[in-house]
Amino acid sequence: MATDNEGLFDAADYVRPALSGFEPYDPAFTPCKINLSANENTHVMPPGFVEQLRCAATSVSLNRYPDPMANELRNELALRHGVSRDMICVGNGGDELLFNLLFAFGGAGRTLVTCPPDFAEYANFATMCDTPVVRIPRDPETFAIDEDALVKAASTAALVFLTSPNNPTGNLLEAEVLSRLLTETKALVLVDEAYVEFAASDASFVSWLAEHPRLIILRTLSKAFGLAGLRVGYVLAHPSVINQLAAIRQIYSVDVVAQAVALAAVQSRKLLKPVVADIVAERDRLANELGEISGIRIWPSEANFVLVRLPDAARVRTRLRDEFSILVRDFSSTPGLEGCLRITVGTPEENNHVIHALRDLSKEWSV
Ligand code: PMP
Repeated sequence: MATDNEGLFDAADYVRPALSGFEPYDPAFTPCKINLSANENTHVMPPGFVEQLRCAATSVSLNRYPDPMANELRNELALRHGVSRDMICVGNGGDELLFNLLFAFGGAGRTLVTCPPDFAEYANFATMCDTPVVRIPRDPETFAIDEDALVKAASTAALVFLTSPNNPTGNLLEAEVLSRLLTETKALVLVDEAYVEFAASDASFVSWLAEHPRLIILRTLSKAFGLAGLRVGYVLAHPSVINQLAAIRQIYSVDVVAQAVALAAVQSRKLLKPVVADIVAERDRLANELGEISGIRIWPSEANFVLVRLPDAARVRTRLRDEFSILVRDFSSTPGLEGCLRITVGTPEENNHVIHALRDLSKEWSV
């Protein structure tokens, strides 16, 4: 028999203060024919790649616990990046690793510096981990980082999170900014390279790890590898950073199927080259064609999405969904991104639908 007055009970009254006000994540997903809202890879993957993954998925024993550190996968990732295995920690998607970095190195009195607009989870996870956030906003026109303000803020911070290419603005982190942070401050500096496979081949900062022990790189299999559902990401960093992450992680967060499939995917990564090349070519075509529609402002992107500014963005997003069955991400209420939508690069057919739909809608706003 319940002794409490159930009507008055609310678990929110019991929740840890840092967590009050958080709501369950709602991706605002509506079933649509074309979903270009989450920067996933929508291309059909090469049959050889799919076959390797299928074999790997069916070869594991589910009655055994996973290897906590996913060492076979770490070995392959170490080969991929030319680093030693002790410089890699695998996680349940990049999200888990971002959270764990804040859990390990943040906390009361240890500031995280970010450069919004950026990936919203940085600030959310920081708040959950009692970590104060100092925001150094990007230039509203170019989304360039305010280098001096960032270095100044970072000089008293524990952590800096930067994204290259940045989500949702698509631009790369400039080497000069990173160099100054690593030489002029003592902060741990994370460069989130979730989308780096879509940028020029020399865009990654992984080669800087050998010289800079406070540099941390985040990678994921959710984007170029087309494995967002598998939930595998990893951090590359100095072995002592990896040790700290290993000490606090949920020991079995990367399950046996995820480890086996991720290993097969990384081993077969050469098969993905044509897919990534096609996404990059389609991104440039999408950007060109959208840029020609009157009323649309588009920023150059090095990732698998484009950011556009257009009249009445929130309504356009709803009309794309309801009249054209196309889902894109509305950023129009994010500070610095007024009037902006983010559109993931889809297949050529999906992109054609987006272009035609926006051409149609633009007839109304250009009169
Ligand atoms: N970093 C950035 C910049 C992202 O956009 C995302 C996902 N949207 C992530 C990290 C996390 O990706 P995942 O958890 O799927 O690896």
